[in-house]
Amino acid sequence: MVRGMTTNGGSQPVFCTIVPPHVLDRLARAEDPALSGPARRSLEHDAYQRTKRRLTTVIGAAAVAPPAGAAADQPHRTVYDAEHTQDLPGTKVREEGDDAGQDASVNRAYAGLGATFELYLKAYGRHSIDDNGLPLDATVHFGEGYDNAFWNGEQMVFGDGDDEIFLDFTIPVDVIGHELTHGVTQHTANLAYFGQSGALNESVSDVFGSLIKQYTLGQTAAEADWLIGAGLLAPRVTGTALRSMKAPGTAYDDDVLGKDPQPAKMEDYVRTGRDNGGVHINSGIPNHAFYLAATALGGYAWEKAGQIWYDVLTGGGLTEDALFTDFATLTVKAARERYGAGDELQAVKKAWEQVGVRTL
Ligand SMILES: [Zn+2]
Repeated sequence: MVRGMTTNGGSQPVFCTIVPPHVLDRLARAEDPALSGPARRSLEHDAYQRTKRRLTTVIGAAAVAPPAGAAADQPHRTVYDAEHTQDLPGTKVREEGDDAGQDASVNRAYAGLGATFELYLKAYGRHSIDDNGLPLDATVHFGEGYDNAFWNGEQMVFGDGDDEIFLDFTIPVDVIGHELTHGVTQHTANLAYFGQSGALNESVSDVFGSLIKQYTLGQTAAEADWLIGAGLLAPRVTGTALRSMKAPGTAYDDDVLGKDPQPAKMEDYVRTGRDNGGVHINSGIPNHAFYLAATALGGYAWEKAGQIWYDVLTGGGLTEDALFTDFATLTVKAARERYGAGDELQAVKKAWEQVGVRTL
């Protein structure tokens, strides 16, 4: 059953930016104004959007209904250009079926929306993020040097980056998949965006974001880089990506950005009031569990490990305030239900054991 349909304003969309506020906070304190200026403007914008989302939720604005008969096996994409303003959605520049144009950001956004649609359809039989053919809209060239990308509950928005720390946010397809997966979660388990349930919400977005990249590249679990946001950091940054599912805490270690704060194990869980209780930090723990299960099973990670995680996200047993141990227990149950008492079950159990999360 699909919970959280937004037509009655019943579910709360998450305003999730791919770059967490604690990273931009640090950047905003940099001495070089070329670094701090864009970060400050991006933070101001994100704070404004968060407030606006809360107000929209209170008012209970109706979501845009998909056109009748849209739940087809084809995406329904529209890409807009904000032309460096903050006006959404901007000027329409590419619709479904149009040929690629000259603008690489437009082409990447269009392809990323398509890749996300395709993984969910081909691997899990899901028709778009609401499983009802929701049209996929994206705006590129948002703001001036805007250092982020986000899903606002209705559409994707991409900044160009400041070119000093962050490049164009349409570059990593896993970032697109991550943000759209927040929409899938919003329409299914609707995990509350705080503490452990918030970290699970973040982790589910990283898991499917990475799977979309792996599916696009035809990579097995062993071949994948398991990075989130590879290609997004400018050459001057000492780092490879925003996060690493393979080795949480090692994605970057930079003078300006600081060090990747993600733990890989429960014993290193970070208790903090920042970042909604560390949702982008402690997601390292379930992220690493998924990586361990997927690599132990081998082959394409979206097939077995991805299917088990998808079953948990959409199965109706996951509560909005779930803890890591609740999620872990449900993956064990899902593995048994789908694959019996075989290697899948053992791989999932062992993965959670290795990151120190108890399964019941
Ligand atoms: Zn997120």
